[in-house]
Amino acid sequence: MAWRQVLDNLSRLVYGDQALCCLCNSPVFNDVGMCSKCTGDLKRQMAWVCKVCGIPVRRPLELCHECRLNLYYFDMQRSAGIYNGRLMSAIRRMKYTGERWLSRPLGWLLSQVAGQFGHVGIVVPVPLAGSSLKARGYNQARDLAAEVSSNICVPLADILEREEARGSQARLDRRDRWRNLRGTMSVTRGTHLGGIAVLLVDDVATTGATLDEAARALKSAGAGDVYCVTLARTLPYRLAEEEGC
Ligand SMILES: [Zn+2]
Ligand SMILES: [Zn+2]
Repeated sequence: MAWRQVLDNLSRLVYGDQALCCLCNSPVFNDVGMCSKCTGDLKRQMAWVCKVCGIPVRRPLELCHECRLNLYYFDMQRSAGIYNGRLMSAIRRMKYTGERWLSRPLGWLLSQVAGQFGHVGIVVPVPLAGSSLKARGYNQARDLAAEVSSNICVPLADILEREEARGSQARLDRRDRWRNLRGTMSVTRGTHLGGIAVLLVDDVATTGATLDEAARALKSAGAGDVYCVTLARTLPYRLAEEEGC
């Protein structure tokens, strides 16, 4: 689109030739490391979503089936895109091949999405369980949360602790995933949040169970609204089929 070219040309004037887009590898002329075509494509994926959990729904629906039935602990959840294609591969590189630099452009992307929420007082990363942290050596959600915190000028508070879930989550169905996670997170002892609004950050949302367990722990320590932001979310099988994922 013409306006995009104008924007890119303006950025080139301001920032000069810089780098490659972390998603599509085309040259970018801004200081965020992501091109306007990729950000536009992601925005289109999430153009009409459930007002609570942020999953794409058919217009004119306002809420998805689950949100009409359930009461989540979190107040709102939004993601930058669907967990597929280039976004999925960038997330996997950040998580599994040690390319921690990707948290900078991806953290910028998260900060844009977080602009949809109200004011927050702290930014909190979803913790890894001890065994995952040991194996990987770093928590990618913490890297992302640190970028968001710096971008939106809100303090980072790494206050959640996580016990191992009982067995692997991967083979469990939706209901068992929720049951298996309940009670596995807590806020650092002695922390009282006094009604403060929280921005909770993670890389991928699958069923929303992890975010909801984190929100439960934060609210039990006195948090006010809890807003969740993730880079990507997986689609339920039914929706994924329709989207051709
Ligand atoms: Zn791109
Ligand atoms: Zn929903």
